[in-house]
Amino acid sequence: MTDGELPRALLREFAAVVGEAHVLTGDATAGYAVDWTGRFRGHAPAVLRPADTAEVAGVLAVCHEACVPIVPQGGNTGLVGGGVPGHGEVVLSLARLDRLDPVDADAGQVTAGAGVPLQRVAGADPGLDLGVLIASRDSATVGGAVATNAGGLRVLRYGPMRAQLRGVEAVLADGTVVSHLAGLVKDNTGYDYPGLLAGSEGTLAVITAARIQLVPRPAGPVTVIVGLSGPGEVHALARAALRTVPGLLSAEFFTRAGLDVLAGHADLVPPLRGPVPAFLLLEAAGLSAAEDLAALAGDYPVAVATTPADRARLWAYRERHPEAAGFLGVPLKLDVSVPAAQWVTLATGVGEVVQAVDPGARLIIYGHVADGNLHVNVVPAAEADGRHEDAVFGFVASLGGSISAEHGIGALKARWLPLIRSAPERALFARIRAAFDPAGILNPHVLPR
Ligand SMILES: Cc1cc2nc3c(=O)[nH]c(=O)nc-3n(C[C@H](O)[C@H](O)[C@H](O)COP(=O)(O)OP(=O)(O)OC[C@H]3O[C@@H](n4cnc5c(N)ncnc54)[C@H](O)[C@@H]3O)c2cc1C
Repeated sequence: MTDGELPRALLREFAAVVGEAHVLTGDATAGYAVDWTGRFRGHAPAVLRPADTAEVAGVLAVCHEACVPIVPQGGNTGLVGGGVPGHGEVVLSLARLDRLDPVDADAGQVTAGAGVPLQRVAGADPGLDLGVLIASRDSATVGGAVATNAGGLRVLRYGPMRAQLRGVEAVLADGTVVSHLAGLVKDNTGYDYPGLLAGSEGTLAVITAARIQLVPRPAGPVTVIVGLSGPGEVHALARAALRTVPGLLSAEFFTRAGLDVLAGHADLVPPLRGPVPAFLLLEAAGLSAAEDLAALAGDYPVAVATTPADRARLWAYRERHPEAAGFLGVPLKLDVSVPAAQWVTLATGVGEVVQAVDPGARLIIYGHVADGNLHVNVVPAAEADGRHEDAVFGFVASLGGSISAEHGIGALKARWLPLIRSAPERALFARIRAAFDPAGILNPHVLPR
């Protein structure tokens, strides 16, 4: 194999499996080689676009035989560089596996191809919804959401993607297809490999389809944004909401700093008047949702929305936050979590921790407060040489937290995994990985081997 290129014979083998039109090379690969933030850029000697599970199996059999490393890619909305060919890997795009079966009304479940965008699953049945809601849902795919165990805006109610899974179809590194899609709620017949593939970031197998449990579509949702003095009040009110609002769906935090950037760059007029430093967005459904949220907000300044258009307007303040840091530069997206009791310490202290290593850095924080999750977005002024991660992840580890709440380890965080996973745990990971992929061709630079 020549540097940066694949032998013609290999390209012909791929073309024999997926068709010549679906073996992309040269300029046509550019969009597949850079991530959403622009921080991770690589080079793909080829992008392969199989149409179905059989073609995925055919591609993997060829790669296994020739020892060609691959990076699976769905919607390419991942935020840790895990779907980008950082070391010249072949990209295996699952976008064409976009078959969505009819909803099984008896079970409230649906089987979706790996390339189906999450929004299509959410809209598959007027009375049902997908429990996972993320701002990237128009592009993020079922396969990517399973592979990252995506979390998002409703984890407090429905759990992450792993909790929605009732089965998986996947192709192992050597091209073997494994399939368990009957959707049985009770099925104790051996290892739960669908659960294991959730969060495996393309390192164990290529997911080709998932059986997903849908949830009842929330009735009459009400959204409020409450203005508060800082993380302490935000945390206290979110904890109170968890205890007293039975229909609670979301509890989301953001600050004036992020809102000011969005006001300047995206024309978002702040939702509340006056100098409000911190915001808590709460959403609840059910007959008493409006009264429950009003009682909770009490005398705090609050914006309330009940119609779909008004709710979308309030949600934009939170859902556009992932873009905010990007308006200032190329951000480092450090998605972390801590035990509930440490969240205020994290949210109030992380700014100082970053300033200590890079006084000119810009910081935008927001996140899923009820899950102990904080998205720490750093736009460095100093060189991005690992000092920001050292500082933030070290602080998080000292609080007993995790360096990845929901985005995964990817390429961004591989170096810091030992901070929170012991040597015996990492050795176990390596043995599991070797059992699934002995030749080491699946996303070899994601998660330490
Ligand atoms: C604006 C914005 C908001 C976001 N909000 C959230 C949020 O709230 N919560 C959250 O959890 N994430 C969030 N994300 C991150 C991202 O959308 C999720 O990680 C999503 O699940 C990735 O799906 P994807 O199809 O884009 O996967 P990709 O980015 O294509 O891939 C992600 C990882 O999964 C692997 N992979 C992809 N498809 C497969 C497959 N079929 N089989 C095996 N491995 C595969 C890749 O190799 C890579 O390691 C957000 C991203 C953006 C841009």
